[in-house]
Amino acid sequence: MKITQNDIILDSDPRIRLKSEEVELPLKDEDRELLQAMLEYVKNSQDEEIAQAEGLIPAVGIAAIQLGIPKQMLAVVVPDSDGIHEAALVNPKIISQSVQNAYLENGEGCLSVKDEHPGHVFRHARIKVRAYDLIQDKKVVLAASGYFAIALQHEIDHLSGVLFYDRIDTVNPWKEDEEAEVI
Ligand SMILES: [Zn+2]
Repeated sequence: MKITQNDIILDSDPRIRLKSEEVELPLKDEDRELLQAMLEYVKNSQDEEIAQAEGLIPAVGIAAIQLGIPKQMLAVVVPDSDGIHEAALVNPKIISQSVQNAYLENGEGCLSVKDEHPGHVFRHARIKVRAYDLIQDKKVVLAASGYFAIALQHEIDHLSGVLFYDRIDTVNPWKEDEEAEVI
């Protein structure tokens, strides 16, 4: 199974607002293949040569609903100063979160969003996520901070049909939070 750019649904498609269902564990073969393909898609999208050859838009994450499949699965690959953080999660739940916020200085983007939605998206600076991780092939509790934490929260939002621009302040989109970590 291989995911191409054409498989990705946009926010004009009402399915993007669906709430995704929990996935049965242990994973069925079809779910395993789907999640593996999602992880490959994200990795390939970050490889300049492959991305250009296959017409992929660079991304740090994808959720199954972005393929029109309402299952609680997501893949995230985030290059950071201390290495590459990657996760291929099933049924992820945020079990703790910092009071401190974090946000990307230039705002967020999304494979399913073509229009510009400028503004800061406040998220928790640090989170702990419980899930089954396909990469480690076991149930895990991931502690995430920085860009990795932001990417995870963006993808976990997709599982409840929430898009990044839902979280942008409509009156003052570039509002700041002095306590927040700016990335
Ligand atoms: Zn997205």
